[in-house]
Order: sequence, then C-alpha cells, then structure tokens
Amino acid sequence: MGLFDKLKEGFTQWLGKAKDEAVEKAADTVREKAEETVEDAVDRAREKREEEKKQKEEARAAERQAQEDARVCEACGKKAAPGQKFCSECGGKIVVRRRVCAKCGRYAQEGEKFCPECGGEIVEKVIE
Ligand SMILES: [Zn+2]
Ligand SMILES: [Zn+2]
Repeated sequence: MGLFDKLKEGFTQWLGKAKDEAVEKAADTVREKAEETVEDAVDRAREKREEEKKQKEEARAAERQAQEDARVCEACGKKAAPGQKFCSECGGKIVVRRRVCAKCGRYAQEGEKFCPECGGEIVEKVIE
C-alpha cells in the first residue's frame, strides 16, 4: 500500500466518523426540539384547561349570585337574604323570581325586552 493510499484510507475513515458525529448531533438537536415542542404543547394545554375551569367557576358564581339577588317574598315582594325561607315582613314564602324568555327560557340580561336568542318576549317568572 502506497503512502497515498494510506492517506486516502485515513481520510476516508476520518470523514466517515465526522459524518456519523454530525448526523448524531443533528438527530440529538431534532430530538431535543421535538421534546421541547411537546412540553410546550402540554404546558399550553394545561394552562388553557385551568383558564377554562376558572371561567366556568366564575360563571357559576355569577349565576349563584343572580339567583340570590332574585330571592323575594311571593306575597309582598320584599327582597330576601340568602338562605331565608320565609319573609321577615309578612311571613310569605320566599321564591326566586327571574326575568326569562317566555319562548326558550333563557335568563334575560338587564334591560332586555326581547330575547336576543329567539326573539321571544321576556317575562318575569317564579323559577324556584
Ligand atoms: Zn313578604
Ligand atoms: Zn328566547
């Protein structure tokens, strides 16, 4: 084997090793990137779930509050405190009165005369 062939062989071996290392490094980078992306996605999904949970809880709390606000005496219309079953003024039964859509039953917002969902008339109803 001549000197040139020896050099050539050595160079070919070195080149092969360098190529393998480069491929391995690239694969590592891709793997790391993929792992990061997955972790990010998991984090984002968790954040979104927590955000949605918070919104739902807030909506439920607002609904409960509205329910309490709507508690009045059936006989004299006096507003009742939470948990009160009978009127402190006249002994009448406490009911929950709500303005609702006569057609679809949707709870009406302040100032609504007709239902924005179905166009039905808003009426006051005893719902409990
Ligand atoms: Zn009363
Ligand atoms: Zn409606």
